[in-house]
Amino acid sequence: MHVERIELRYIQLPLKHHFETSAIRSFQRDTILVTVWADGVEGWGESAIEAGPWYSPETVETAWHVQRDFLVPMLLGQQLETAAEAFDRLALVRGHNMAKTGLEEALWDVEARQKGISVAQLLGSTSPRIESGVSVGIQDTVDELLELVEGYLAQGYRRIKVKIKPGWDVEVVRTLRQRWPEVPLMVDANSAYTLEDADHLVALDGFDLMMIEQPLAYDDIYQHSLLQRRLRTPLCLDESIHTPAHALAALELGSCRIINIKPGRVGGLAQARRIHDLCQERGVPVWCGGLLEVGVGRAHNVAIASLPGFTLPGDVSASDRYFERDVIELPFRLNPDGTIDVPQGPGIGVEVDRAFLDEVTVRREEFAV
Ligand code: MG
Repeated sequence: MHVERIELRYIQLPLKHHFETSAIRSFQRDTILVTVWADGVEGWGESAIEAGPWYSPETVETAWHVQRDFLVPMLLGQQLETAAEAFDRLALVRGHNMAKTGLEEALWDVEARQKGISVAQLLGSTSPRIESGVSVGIQDTVDELLELVEGYLAQGYRRIKVKIKPGWDVEVVRTLRQRWPEVPLMVDANSAYTLEDADHLVALDGFDLMMIEQPLAYDDIYQHSLLQRRLRTPLCLDESIHTPAHALAALELGSCRIINIKPGRVGGLAQARRIHDLCQERGVPVWCGGLLEVGVGRAHNVAIASLPGFTLPGDVSASDRYFERDVIELPFRLNPDGTIDVPQGPGIGVEVDRAFLDEVTVRREEFAV
């Protein structure tokens, strides 16, 4: 693939319903879409990022800067054999995984389109659909939460994840469990606790949760291993795992028994697949998280989530979970059985709605050889 042209596009899309984690309440999605042209073929990727450094240290502006000034010049005019080598080609730039992901994913789309196969197939997947779960943010009242969960279950979602924080945890989970004793249920704290809260978190062991996601610091691996020893419920790491080496350390230390893989957090599909392979060799289940991606990043998430080691339903929901209107022609839909189809067309298998994309674009910059 000879990289001829790259376009960055900063878009803002309103969220259907605000999304609140232990850190922040969001009302709109800010994200960067990347288009790469190589050998005349166009591919799309997404740097699923936030306006502020609430989930990761990266922001839209840091990503734009690192892409424009460093990553784009490293790829423009270059010849790549496969998209799988792109992450390593960008290794001189340390970190900035979200900035790298948009470019890397676009190259997977190009390569798959050139070969006339889907990104999922190029990754090595044969599965026609993925199991879909839903992530439900913190609400103003428990009644609002119950109403939302009831709606998602009625739509067919196979697993419910609720965000928790101090003051919105054990009693909320107890209420959910009383109402739905059998539903696959998990919680995500987005680093809202410390080891001093261990006695309190042990109370969550009574509710048959699938897992507790990232209870402790966003950059911690060791303290999670101490907490995991005190809990029957598996811990799952998200924010702490940026590389395959982090995943290995977490598994060796016993810091978690499950890993949430997000391409955006780890620098793209190749790194996501490496972590998947490492976990699969060790019999550790993984699932695909989400960063409120629009249709482009969502398509890449669906592709990676169709690999065989993704044995737990993830956060890859239908487009209408987040947006009134997505930026792709045919939004992702939930099947009545709680699955989402893996697009079988060439590349990511979805087409961008260019007119709508122009409406939601706030900045755009193009680079050519
Ligand atoms: Mg998480």
